[in-house]
Amino acid sequence: MQRRDFMKKAGAGSLALGAGLTGSGAAQAGPKYKWKMVTTWPKNFPGLGTAANKLAALIGEMSGGRMRVKVYGAGELVPAFEIFDAVSRGTAEIGHGAAYYWKGKSEAAQFFSTVPFGLTAQEMNAWLYYGDGLELWTELYDGFGLVPAPAGNTGVQMGGWFNKEINSLADLDGLKMRIPGLGGEILRRAGGLPVNLPGGELFVSLQKGVIDATEWVGPYNDLAFGLYKAAKYYYYPGFHEPGTTLEAMINKAALSSLPKDLQSIVLNACKVVNQDLLSEYTARNPIALETLLNNHKVDLRRYPDDVIKELYRLAQEVLTELAGRDPFSKKVYASYSLFLKQARTWSDISELAYLKARDQA
Ligand code: CA
Repeated sequence: MQRRDFMKKAGAGSLALGAGLTGSGAAQAGPKYKWKMVTTWPKNFPGLGTAANKLAALIGEMSGGRMRVKVYGAGELVPAFEIFDAVSRGTAEIGHGAAYYWKGKSEAAQFFSTVPFGLTAQEMNAWLYYGDGLELWTELYDGFGLVPAPAGNTGVQMGGWFNKEINSLADLDGLKMRIPGLGGEILRRAGGLPVNLPGGELFVSLQKGVIDATEWVGPYNDLAFGLYKAAKYYYYPGFHEPGTTLEAMINKAALSSLPKDLQSIVLNACKVVNQDLLSEYTARNPIALETLLNNHKVDLRRYPDDVIKELYRLAQEVLTELAGRDPFSKKVYASYSLFLKQARTWSDISELAYLKARDQA
């Protein structure tokens, strides 16, 4: 086996030298790259984990086998919340997670996953690709030797699973809830106790009463974790995650050591998965919701309007303070909030007006 690998490498090497002369057939030749992908998700977890698998497979296919990416679930190579450091130091070449997990590295990272009452998936992609979003994100991660790429979006998430009704703001008082990022900070200001736990720990924590409530993603993923067995009420909307971008973080040195075409393949494979996952959620959430309601008799509730209103007020407070904390956060906030203002004007008379019209019909 070893000998055969050696022969392959030797053969590939000599072909690579002649690549300029041998024409199109030489595209498959040249050095081979074996990458490791670490993720914050349980291995093969529907949607999140399978998107990471898809990204790895796509890079392999698009490169004609010149690149091979092996995916590791949370805890297999490094724990979920250590993937940022692992990719930064080159233990793995690529990671798949969500930027708000890294607020300990930089508060501004949270803008690149999702912002409570902020941009929807469609608007977020617009800010990232056609606004300043991705450029700012690249500037931030550059300081850690990483290159970010949007690589999935969940769409609007659900509010979460609760063991008691939320009828007023007072019901959030003392509530111990798993809710990451800025949503967690809003809950804290509303009197709750936010905690962050990796997905794989949610069910047991909720069942054992370590937490009183949890949000995760949406029906498709929440059904997969069986969260309906540990809590009675399922609240919406996920004001705290209106269109969460998942990320690929790529070790900068590893990326720049690739030939230009492979660099493009890696980044464009991320772009494919970014759209693909949103389509998958849009298709699978409604079916999973039906199962939750019809087979598992989940009690679906909408957050009361006055609770939403107060959470919105707290969100503005949290964001303004975040913007004041350091110059980079200020810069990102300025870009994000201007984009949101403009996007809203358009969304109100396009998406929102249309959805309302459809609803009336
Ligand atoms: Ca979530």
